[in-house]
Amino acid sequence: MKYEDAIKRYDPVIGIEVHVELGTATKMFDAAPNTFGGGPNTNITPTSLGLPGSLPVVNEKGVEYAIKIGLALGCEIAETCRFARKNYFYPDVPKDFQTSQSDEPIAAEGQVEVELEDGTIVTVPVERAHMEEDAGKNTHVGGATGRIHGADHSLVDYNRAGVPLVEIVTHPITGTGERAAEVAAAYVRTLRDIFRALGVSEARMEQGNVRADVNVSLRESPDAPLGTRTETKNVNSFRSIERAVRFEIARQATLLDAGEKIVQETRHFHEESGETSSGRPKSDADDYRYFPEPDLVPLQPSREWVEQLRAALPELPAQKRRRLLGEWKFSDLEMRDIVNAGLLEAIEDTVTAGAKPSAARKWWTGEVARLANQAEKHPTEIVTSGQVAGLVELIDQGKLNDKLAKDVLSGVVAGEGEPAEVMNARGLEIVEDTGALEAAVDEAIAANPDVVEKIRGGKMQAIGALMGPIMKATKGQADAGKAKELILARING
Ligand code: ADP
Ligand code: MG
Repeated sequence: MKYEDAIKRYDPVIGIEVHVELGTATKMFDAAPNTFGGGPNTNITPTSLGLPGSLPVVNEKGVEYAIKIGLALGCEIAETCRFARKNYFYPDVPKDFQTSQSDEPIAAEGQVEVELEDGTIVTVPVERAHMEEDAGKNTHVGGATGRIHGADHSLVDYNRAGVPLVEIVTHPITGTGERAAEVAAAYVRTLRDIFRALGVSEARMEQGNVRADVNVSLRESPDAPLGTRTETKNVNSFRSIERAVRFEIARQATLLDAGEKIVQETRHFHEESGETSSGRPKSDADDYRYFPEPDLVPLQPSREWVEQLRAALPELPAQKRRRLLGEWKFSDLEMRDIVNAGLLEAIEDTVTAGAKPSAARKWWTGEVARLANQAEKHPTEIVTSGQVAGLVELIDQGKLNDKLAKDVLSGVVAGEGEPAEVMNARGLEIVEDTGALEAAVDEAIAANPDVVEKIRGGKMQAIGALMGPIMKATKGQADAGKAKELILARING
């Protein structure tokens, strides 16, 4: 069954688990550096490896970042909470358990306002945000799929073992209807932006700093009980999240229509085909034998600390959008285009550097975007906000018109220097030199007696026919307004 039909026939419910790696200097429970890259098994200590006799110590910065995330999502911060051992055997978990939080998360019950591309706001209910540590990384060698099945041998790298994570789990998200896939992706994007605004993570999806598991189930109607869910693991881009949800909805609808049951299981998403395939069965009662971690004392973040962190929260992306919309007086649509194009910060910085909002928007979304598109780059990769502000300033000072400014911009993009330097080096400044302008006007009048006749006869549009030669003679640097004044003075005066 196609997604479009499936979504008409069934009511989808989604649930999303997001893991974010925190950008602390060291790991969550030991002093090993928390850095990306480096040779395998270089960023490790005996604690990262769970060697006998090693003991964990909580990373205060990790707790601070987790609280900040909880506060930004509107959660209650626990007065006391414990770490727990989640026991399972897998070679990338050297201790045989993952230090996590179970029934005592540091943050619970919040919500995230998610804006969809057309401006619709969806409120996603958050069940919990808890702290845990990342596992190491297995590499399965010799098989066709890169998975353990069929591999000759496996390598394990513990650099990532113990890296601080916060896992954010939503309540089941209902009522999205046909927009389920879009909501899922937009929610994770919103979280990504929040992590960046908080400065708790670089939050690079492509580096696996942010990973999402997407749960999907279908039911006959919005008042029916929840159906059986599948959990598609580690989907690593916004587009993949959307595709995975769409695929699961279509797949489950096909099975349900045939009278079959959905198996509760984890699934893998395949980038190339856009399909998911069966992973392992997973029940709600999977027995991880959670028990309180006896080597770590319970955590009791003081209310003073929590309130300090709350007071110091930066402006979050949604608030910032609302504030700038009011200040800049753009339309909702203009604002959305800017956000979707990833130009909000650039325009904000350009305005801070002195440009009018309308001018900043015009150049970033116009000529800069066009040049960036040609170079297959993002606009912010080809010029800085300071340069755009500089260009706008030269226009405001009357030194450049739009056409000359475009030439200057292309010089800036080509690395010829700052706008004023390019203007001077290329000799692009509007000609203030009245002598040169007068000469060009006289020349144009002398060469076009028929046009002059028309103007004398009151046909003002005919002036346009003289502007071409004047611009040509001045290499586009004539001030059009002044040229017009001069023409009229010569002909009528
Ligand atoms: P697990 O241990 O299986 O990962 P979690 O509680 O961490 O369980 O996450 C389960 C996710 O699935 C949550 O986001 C939850 O809201 C969501 N969920 C639970 N039941 C359903 C359902 N029937 N359909 C869709 N999502 C669901
Ligand atoms: Mg989970």
